[in-house]
Amino acid sequence: MPIESPQHRPPHDMNCPMLQIATGCTHGRCRFCDIFIDVPFSAVPMEEVVADIEQIARHASALTRRIYLTGGNPFALPTERLTAVFDAVEERIPTVKGYGGFCRIMDIARKTDDELALLASRGVNEITIGAESGFDEALDFMQKGHSAADIVEQGRRLHKAGIGFTFFYLAGMAGAGRGQQNARASAEVFSAAGPSRILVVTLTPTKTWPLARAIREGRWQPPTEGEIAREIQTFVGALACPCAVNCSHDTDIIKFEGMVPADRQNMVALLDNLIPKMDEGAARRLREMLHRATF
Ligand code: SF4
Repeated sequence: MPIESPQHRPPHDMNCPMLQIATGCTHGRCRFCDIFIDVPFSAVPMEEVVADIEQIARHASALTRRIYLTGGNPFALPTERLTAVFDAVEERIPTVKGYGGFCRIMDIARKTDDELALLASRGVNEITIGAESGFDEALDFMQKGHSAADIVEQGRRLHKAGIGFTFFYLAGMAGAGRGQQNARASAEVFSAAGPSRILVVTLTPTKTWPLARAIREGRWQPPTEGEIAREIQTFVGALACPCAVNCSHDTDIIKFEGMVPADRQNMVALLDNLIPKMDEGAARRLREMLHRATF
């Protein structure tokens, strides 16, 4: 089947072929997401998956070693369906040894330890998880569907199973005046969960998000660009787990990347240097232009 748009991949998986095995998202309620509104979650029929594998195989080479599974949260599919897909992939493209894709914290919670171990043995690794924040008030308000405690518990289960993972951090999610609380709580929770990589994205509201209504009604206000930058600085400065940090999404005004702990002080110093030079209006206009944002 044609890949349904929009589909997203993290930077480290940009060179992987994408294979759509599900449509929609099992949750579909996050206030900052309109991708899967009115798209019910379902498995792509196996005949269509096999036809797509054939297409990927036609362009595959000895370097085709990893497949990026798509759909909002493809790992919500039953483990037997996932392993059936892996069998079909490896029968046609035997060089493939690993699989990534988006996964919700609660998709992990719904799998047993044995299932996670099986998925790890089949090459599932470095899955991408929208943890977004470790601050319960922000997670609740945004209807994320998991708590800070869930993030820590499921992160530990993934480590036990041997599945590495990347977290998204959604800067600005707690709203105006609460960036520092969000940063400190999130750094503590993410550090306890132990992702190998953190991708920082700055929340950039649009009219089509459910959040737009809360903004209109005065129940949520966006932080200033300066507050967001200082939130990111506090978050990075407080991270206590070894991991890569990438803050280079289109929505991030000050872009940087580095390793924690080796580059932590350099990243914090870079922000110290650049934050006073930020132009609030220009930064806001840039994000409005790139993402048709409506603050
Ligand atoms: S879990 Fe992800 S895909 Fe699903 S509604 Fe939330 S942000 Fe959107």
